[in-house]
Amino acid sequence: MLYQSTRGGETVEAAQAIAQGIAADGGLFAPETLPAVTPGEMESFAAKGYIPAAECILRKYLTGYTDAELKSAVRSAYREDAFPDGPAVLKELTEDAAVLELWHGPTFAFKDVALQLLPHLLTLAGGKTSEQKKEIVILAATSGDTGKAALEGFAGVPGTKIIVFYPQAGVSVVQERQMTTQKGDNVAVLAVKGNFDDAQAGVKRIFNDRRLAGRLEENGLFFSSANSINWGRLAPQIVYYFYAYALAVKNGRVKAGEKVDFAVPTGNFGNILAGFYALGMGLPVGRFICASNANNVLADFINTGRYDRKRAFHKTISPSMDILVSSNLERLLYHLTGKDAPAVSGWMKLLARDGCYDIGAENKKTLQKYFSGYWVDDGATQKTIAETFARHKYLMDTHTAVAWKACADHRRQTGGAGYTIVLSTASPFKFALPVLKALNPDAPDMDAFAAIEGLSELSGLKIPEAMRELGHLPVLHDKAVAVEQMTGAVRDVLAI
Ligand SMILES: *Cc1c(COP(=O)(O)O)cnc(C)c1O
Repeated sequence: MLYQSTRGGETVEAAQAIAQGIAADGGLFAPETLPAVTPGEMESFAAKGYIPAAECILRKYLTGYTDAELKSAVRSAYREDAFPDGPAVLKELTEDAAVLELWHGPTFAFKDVALQLLPHLLTLAGGKTSEQKKEIVILAATSGDTGKAALEGFAGVPGTKIIVFYPQAGVSVVQERQMTTQKGDNVAVLAVKGNFDDAQAGVKRIFNDRRLAGRLEENGLFFSSANSINWGRLAPQIVYYFYAYALAVKNGRVKAGEKVDFAVPTGNFGNILAGFYALGMGLPVGRFICASNANNVLADFINTGRYDRKRAFHKTISPSMDILVSSNLERLLYHLTGKDAPAVSGWMKLLARDGCYDIGAENKKTLQKYFSGYWVDDGATQKTIAETFARHKYLMDTHTAVAWKACADHRRQTGGAGYTIVLSTASPFKFALPVLKALNPDAPDMDAFAAIEGLSELSGLKIPEAMRELGHLPVLHDKAVAVEQMTGAVRDVLAI
């Protein structure tokens, strides 16, 4: 299997795509073809469990990795002490809707599912490419959850260093504390005086800085990415779409081959895109409900075909989706247009120059065949949390609630739909204060750790130990840099 740059520049093997993270022309690596999953394989996933499903799917994409390598990588990533309940837990809330909990990993967000595996894929890739013998430097921009999940995945991994940038005042208290207390000799965490888009743009600039690349080369280092621009982040996410479907069939909710809808709380468009790849591989999907918060650029895009980032940036109670430039949309456009790299390059140039582009009527029609876009404000998000708790005794976090509400809105608008699986991306404890206030609007303002206690009392849910100890761990990283200082900060960390 080969991977092509969405802007037409390069075609590389899987290991090279993962090692590089991003193509030299600024494009993202996309698979040349989408391998099929047979109905027999699909059926086997529910019976055999998550790990064999992951091996089966990854084998199709990561040609160049041996079966033994993949097996060992998957088994180390999804070991029981990292995911005591497994990487994906399907909970049925109603007759026609279930949530797929993807946050039972070490950092309580769905990003663990990919980021526990990525270090294995990346260190193996190092031995298969021209980057052999060099040390990998992982750069990540985070809206909160990627940072910690990547730190947790890469801390202490030999032959790697990791540098995480997060928007100062743009992440939740728990998210920030998770990152600033990170232990490990090979980790650096820096706050950026800007929002997530600034941090992400800064990291992309560092990747494309030729002079810096030269310095790295001289010092036996090379950059890679832990963001969902890296194919090694996306491929593992395809697995749980198939797995969830297999469980829905096993539970008798849908017949094998019958279509289901997926509702996905979306920011950088990585999670939902993994679903689109699953569809391309044969998963019976009716529709992807793309759910945004007040940063509604994707909902508008899906409804109009025009992407326009020129709008106010909102800080919301679902901060992991406070994003106006969704990187992975580029991959979707590449596939939707039948791999029209010149068109994709053109739109990305317009986005950089004018802040907007229009994909035209034909492409919009194709887009709307698969995707419906909705957005949900903070008030409706909190109301949804309160209602689902009252009705189903189920407590969801702010991001999941955005998707649950988008699913309800979609049903109202279309007069009903098939079985829907709503992806649940974080533990409610991770965003404890807004969740607590949703259940008890009279709750006073309090610090995040008091809110976690309060939420546990109110809901009867047990606080995970790693969350409880967070309030007492020493802060090890407290540096903040301006956007223009990001390159300098990387040089300082690496001493180059
Ligand atoms: C990252 C994240 C999202 C958005 O996922 P994308 O792949 O960026 O679209 C949603 N919810 C939570 C909790 C996240 O951490």
